[in-house]
Amino acid sequence: MKVYTWKQLFWAMCLVYIPVVILGLLTGHLLEFLLVATVLHIAWHYYFLKKLNDWLWVSKSTVLPPGKSVWEHAYIGIHNMQQRYRKRHKSLANVISRFREGSEALPDAVVVFKKEGEIVWCNHLAQFQLGFKWPEDAGENITNLIRHPDFVEYLRSNSYQDPLDLISPINSEKLLEFRVMPYAKDQRLLIVRDVTSYRQMDENRRNFVANVSHELRTPLTVLQGYIEIMEMSAQDDPRQLKTVRVLEQQTARMCALVEQLMTLSKIEGAASVDFHECINTAVLLTQLENEAIALGRKKSLSINFVVDPKLSVVGDEMQLRSIMANLVYNAINYTPENGNVKVLWKRIPEGAYFCVMDTGDGIAPEHILHLTERFYRVDASRSRDTGGSGLGLSIVKHGLSHYDSELDIESNIGEGSQFSFIISKAYLC
Ligand code: ADP
Repeated sequence: MKVYTWKQLFWAMCLVYIPVVILGLLTGHLLEFLLVATVLHIAWHYYFLKKLNDWLWVSKSTVLPPGKSVWEHAYIGIHNMQQRYRKRHKSLANVISRFREGSEALPDAVVVFKKEGEIVWCNHLAQFQLGFKWPEDAGENITNLIRHPDFVEYLRSNSYQDPLDLISPINSEKLLEFRVMPYAKDQRLLIVRDVTSYRQMDENRRNFVANVSHELRTPLTVLQGYIEIMEMSAQDDPRQLKTVRVLEQQTARMCALVEQLMTLSKIEGAASVDFHECINTAVLLTQLENEAIALGRKKSLSINFVVDPKLSVVGDEMQLRSIMANLVYNAINYTPENGNVKVLWKRIPEGAYFCVMDTGDGIAPEHILHLTERFYRVDASRSRDTGGSGLGLSIVKHGLSHYDSELDIESNIGEGSQFSFIISKAYLC
């Protein structure tokens, strides 16, 4: 496309005015000729300016009006610019409509809102699940429509790693999971999923496990009683005694498994823990120390508890005991003879620190991430020997979740392991 330079514009003017000057000089009316030429020149420009104005504001036609010289050039330039904007506009509109179609296809309610809460857009499901009205609610603050204090606090917190579960604002029988994600510049994307059936299934599973474990307890106690009687009457028969001992061992394993299952169900099932009660942690750890020394004696383990007697936390004593005991018993079970087990309970700036260190065989890195999964065992046969069920660390994980804490595991093969956690100072008493 041709670009007009100052030089070309000057020569274009000369082309108009040189003949006028010559004619003016020849006729002796130079000034008059120049005046008329200038007026005509301005009128010519105004004519094309008017045409441009009409084309842009009145006709709005996409067909270019005919232009001359510089004006033709200017018309084409404006027209090309318009075409470029139209194309960009169209492709942006396509992107938006693809996003909207995608969001409508999702099985979740989707709401786009500004950082300050102003609703920009929502899909159809948001209207069903949250009771939004579209387009009436466009621009409305989201906290005026979802007024639950937990949701308002969740938005204000600006920390959206974990989802928030809330009862539906329009149907109290439905449980919704709210997830917020930072989206585009200064916008947020809210995704709401109906999790009523998932939670129901989870609860059913928990109830089932709790009921089965509970029901197994009575027959196991009866069995243990009979095995004891059989053991007494088999004292003179070594072969029978051996069989009875195996029976005794396996029943004890089953009892331990049932106990662990019941503890896990209780901890998992507790929606919230009563944090009003102060647990006498020093007494709890002294009991644990005595049990650990008794257990470790068989393997000549050196057991060392370093406990801050003034450091106590609030919560459920049974749960805290399960958390600490599982870590201590594991250290004893997985440390070979003459090894060391050290337990620390001390105050740190963040709160209370609990740590169990052992000089056991250690755990390979690929197992560490899975240790807290139910029934996960690094070496099933080894665990069986120690009477392990694979539920201990799962109990620890769930128990710690009530304190908003996580288990930290460090281990090196052949050197030993360290299991630790921090209970935040909000839970100290
Ligand atoms: P279990 O009842 O089998 O001990 P846990 O859930 O307590 O189940 O532990 C899971 C697995 O983690 C164990 O089977 C064991 O292989 C490994 N483990 C746990 N604690 C230790 C430890 N202190 N040293 C080495 N391995 C451990």
